[in-house]
Amino acid sequence: MTTLFISDLHLDASRPDITGQFVEFLREQATGAEFLYILGDLFEAWVGDDDPEPEKQRAVAALRALSDSGVPVYFMHGNRDFLIGARFAREAGCTLLPDPCRVSLHGSEVLLMHGDTLCTDDVEYQAFREMTRDPSWQQQFLSLPLAQRLAMAEEARAESLASTRGKPESIMDVNQQAVVETMREEKVRLLLHGHTHRPAVHDFEIDGRAAQRIVLGDWYTQGSVVYWDDSGFRLESLPRTEGAH
Ligand code: MN
Repeated sequence: MTTLFISDLHLDASRPDITGQFVEFLREQATGAEFLYILGDLFEAWVGDDDPEPEKQRAVAALRALSDSGVPVYFMHGNRDFLIGARFAREAGCTLLPDPCRVSLHGSEVLLMHGDTLCTDDVEYQAFREMTRDPSWQQQFLSLPLAQRLAMAEEARAESLASTRGKPESIMDVNQQAVVETMREEKVRLLLHGHTHRPAVHDFEIDGRAAQRIVLGDWYTQGSVVYWDDSGFRLESLPRTEGAH
């Protein structure tokens, strides 16, 4: 049996083709899987579990159908959908995971992360992250009317786009020292994450021993999936078929 990993779909009402490919992926590939792990940024924005926006609800319903069919689904927050909460988990039939999360996969110990905490060179983002992960900040935000939350998220997205444009590429990638320290601390040789939208398998050494960092890609123009079974892992891109909607 195969365990599937995806991240960074950035589902949004303006891009129904991505939701289409996601729904198709759940129905055709994930249905036969042992587990499905979503490592964050499933949604472009998430302002609370009470948002009735139809494209979001379409994704929730598709996840629910998968979990109802007997495939356990795990969800880790990304930097876009960190406000996903208990109601979403109940409705989608997902189990929320902490970041980082260490799992045993077909005989390997693997550390799962979204990846944003490894981008330690982006000091401005890390400060924003610290603020928005504070439970009292979240409680306050979630108590605002939905329309106001949506407007604030739109504003934050525009600001983040503007500030991202001015940042060198290297700042928005992971910091290798943070990678090594995290893996050493968690006693793993394998790390799987998303966030950077730079799909790759990186080979390096930690204290003289081989280590690997597997990076999932985004779903903007095609899907990106890690398949893991008894023979190991494969990072593959998933072409978007015409007419996915
Ligand atoms: Mn991200």
